[in-house]
Amino acid sequence: MEHLQETTCEILVSSDIHGHIYPTDYRSAGECQLGLAKLATLIGRERLTHPELLLLDNGDLIQGTPLSTYFVKNKQGVHPTIEVLNRLGYDAAVPGNHEFNYGLSTLYQVVEDSQFPWLSAGITVKGAGNLRSGNLI
Ligand SMILES: [Zn+2]
Repeated sequence: MEHLQETTCEILVSSDIHGHIYPTDYRSAGECQLGLAKLATLIGRERLTHPELLLLDNGDLIQGTPLSTYFVKNKQGVHPTIEVLNRLGYDAAVPGNHEFNYGLSTLYQVVEDSQFPWLSAGITVKGAGNLRSGNLI
């Protein structure tokens, strides 16, 4: 008889980043408690004690700041939030409803530029069946 081995898996999840990299409050020109830069510190701290942690983003990543809008309008290089998630070593992301704000071509480009898989279920494209592009599964 096989013995079951108990194990622990640490999962760290970000959500609703909405294009915030720096803790900039665009409405009041002040600082706020948002952004991937602040998360980078927390992620680094967690990896010290849990080096194998699973790092996920739960969606609403690429839309929500003037920086995001500027990027999408000008399409120069990799979307800034994807560049940061790549550098932080995210393991996977899930598309939120706002990932669709700029259209499928932007979403497909974001998925292609990601160095991690995008996970989804139940998303269909009218006339094309399940949404599949790059590593979006
Ligand atoms: Zn949101």
